[in-house]
Amino acid sequence: MRCRTVLTRIDALRTGELHPAQRGAVRKHLRTCASCDESVADLAQLARAVKSLAAVPSGALREALEPAGSYARLSTSFGPLWVAFSRRGLRMIHLGGGEEAFLSRLAARYARRPRRADLPAPLRRRILATLEGKASGRVPIDLGGASPLETQVLEAMARIPRGEVRSYSWLAACVGRPRAVRAVARVVAGNRIPFVLPCHRVVPAGGGTGEYAFGSEKKRRLLRREGVDVDQLDDLARRGVRLIGSRTTGIACVPTCRDARRIRADNQVPLRGPADAHQEGFRPCRHCRPFAA
Ligand SMILES: [Zn+2]
Ligand SMILES: [Zn+2]
Repeated sequence: MRCRTVLTRIDALRTGELHPAQRGAVRKHLRTCASCDESVADLAQLARAVKSLAAVPSGALREALEPAGSYARLSTSFGPLWVAFSRRGLRMIHLGGGEEAFLSRLAARYARRPRRADLPAPLRRRILATLEGKASGRVPIDLGGASPLETQVLEAMARIPRGEVRSYSWLAACVGRPRAVRAVARVVAGNRIPFVLPCHRVVPAGGGTGEYAFGSEKKRRLLRREGVDVDQLDDLARRGVRLIGSRTTGIACVPTCRDARRIRADNQVPLRGPADAHQEGFRPCRHCRPFAA
C-alpha cells in the first residue's frame, strides 16, 4: 500500500470507521513507514487540539499537519550555508545567496513560516561531517510533501556508496521506472539537500561526470575527494566501456564499484553494457547491480 493511500485512511483508522478489511494493510504499512506513522501522531495531536475549538478553517488544518520547521546559518568549508530543518530532519541546504533568497525558496515549498533557531548539535555535527567527507552517522531527512517518485528516487540515490557513481538510467531502473529517465533526472536536478543526498554521484550513462547545480568542475572535485578516478571515467566513456567484468569471478560491475576496483588489470574485461555482459556470460555484481545500467 502506498503512503498516499495510507494517509487518506489514517483518520478513519483513528476513529474506528475504517473497513476491517483495510485495517491490516494500513497497520502493516505504519509499522514500517516512519513518515506515515509520524502523520498518525500529528493527526492524534491535532484531533485533541480541534476538540477545544468551534471551527477550524481547512487551510489552517493543512498547515497544522505540517510542522513549521526552523532554519539556521551554518559556517562550513564550502562557505556559509542556510539549512532548513524540522524535528523529523533536514529539509533544505541553500548554498550562497542571502537569507531572503533562501526564505523565498522555502516559502515556495512550505506553507508555514519557519523560525530562526539553533541547529540541534547532533544534526549540526552530522551535516558538517558529511560535508567534510567523513562518515558520522546518517543525517535524518524530512522530505515533506515529496511525491512517491521523488521519495523513491532520492532514497535510492542516498544509497549510492561514497566513492562510486551511477547513471540516471541506472537510478530509473532501480526504482522500477526504466523508461522514466528524464523524470528521474528532473528529480535529481531538483534535489533540495545537495551533498547530503548525493546528487553529485549521478552521472550520464554515456560517460563523463555531467552537469551539476554548482558547476561541473565542483562535481568533479567532490567526486575526486571521495576517491572516484574521474579521469578514468572520461577515458572509459571515450572507449565506450560501461561495465567491467572479472575474468576470474565471471562477475560484471559498474567501473566505480568497490569490487570492480579490486580486479587486477590483466583480469579486467571491458564491456559495452548489460547486453554485452550477459552475452559474454557475466553475472551481475550484487553490490552495484550493473544490469540496470
Ligand atoms: Zn508511508
Ligand atoms: Zn559491483
